[in-house]
Amino acid sequence: MYHLVCVNCGATYPADEILYNCTKCGHLLAVKYPLDSLNINKAVWDKRPLGVWRYKELLPVHGEPVTLQEGGTQMYHLKRLGEEMGIPHLYAKHEGMNPSGSFKDRGMTVGVSMALQLGKKSVACASTGNTSASLAVYAAKAGIPAVVLLPAGKVAVGKVAQALMHGAKVISIRGNFDRALEMVHDLCLSHGLYLLNSINPYRLEGQKTIGFEAVDQLGGVPDRFVLPVGNAGNISAVYKGLLELQELGFIDRLPMMTGIQAAGSSPVVRAVRENLPEVVPEMQPETVATAIRIGAPVNAEKALTAIRKTGGLAESVTDEEILRMQRDLARKEGIGVEPASAASVAGIRKLAEMGMIDRDERIVCVVTGHLLKDPDTVIKQCEPPTEIDANLPSLLSALHL
Ligand SMILES: *Cc1c(COP(=O)(O)O)cnc(C)c1O
Ligand SMILES: [Zn+2]
Repeated sequence: MYHLVCVNCGATYPADEILYNCTKCGHLLAVKYPLDSLNINKAVWDKRPLGVWRYKELLPVHGEPVTLQEGGTQMYHLKRLGEEMGIPHLYAKHEGMNPSGSFKDRGMTVGVSMALQLGKKSVACASTGNTSASLAVYAAKAGIPAVVLLPAGKVAVGKVAQALMHGAKVISIRGNFDRALEMVHDLCLSHGLYLLNSINPYRLEGQKTIGFEAVDQLGGVPDRFVLPVGNAGNISAVYKGLLELQELGFIDRLPMMTGIQAAGSSPVVRAVRENLPEVVPEMQPETVATAIRIGAPVNAEKALTAIRKTGGLAESVTDEEILRMQRDLARKEGIGVEPASAASVAGIRKLAEMGMIDRDERIVCVVTGHLLKDPDTVIKQCEPPTEIDANLPSLLSALHL
């Protein structure tokens, strides 16, 4: 059995208490397993298909999960981009290949399973887009209603389409993501819906499997793990999971956890750079990478620990650098991702140019969501199709032949 523990004061709570913050000090909670008595056999894991549920002994769900076979995503060697950057061991783990097209599915398969396990009848979240798409998908699979709050006009069209089609109640608020999260948090506390933002410690349990899979796919620990940072849940989750693997003796060291933010929305980078004890929220976050357009990251406390304890880095990249990397991944590697996802690899390009990393490192960049999530940003960057009359001479002339 596991329990919940406050990451600040160490207070513990039973696993079935529905809590999103420590009631003593208000800080974040994490799931704690009795690792020495778990008796996990690595050979048994290795026989199961790669995916979130390969690692079920380190997940909080007891019965049959609500699953669409998430995880097991491709790990690509970025051969050409790596050569260009002088980093021969550069990899991208393509989380856009999950059922709803982002890593949020790893969190939601566990989170929605926990909603049922805890006897909850409805679920809710605030979202910059992907969380709502994923929650809508998993609520549909579970057969329960979902409510999602979005910042009006700031969500990529593919994500809204998913939330609508999968049947969530979609509410657009005239305010930003940070406000939407406050509102849905209040709603869940007052009306008993189950909150599935990354403040929910069970959701992060699913997301930690990105790290487990990367270690299995590479046959060892990478030197550096790079993630785009919005609410900072994912980087915290991967760190927590790898710490558990280390405690179990399955790995002997941790990667340098490295967080990349958009320049217009980079409170975590600032806190690391200025060695602040906690982040100072940004009131007007702005970036083309809407998935990480977050001024007050709820998991900042955990993320700062992850970055600092592993000797990692935090860096920001401009929208221009993000979009250039989105095109480079698409055209030089055949990997289609949304802007936020390209931030991780753009960050590595920048850190390498600044001489901040050793070019021989084995580096895993998590690319978090699929290209088709945000078609508008794609269309804006590309030449429109060439329209011609329907005859061969016109075709030859269009091709300059
Ligand atoms: C949610 C999301 C992020 C940010 O993850 P956090 O856990 O909030 O830091 C990055 N990229 C994409 C595509 C996302 O959907
Ligand atoms: Zn506490």
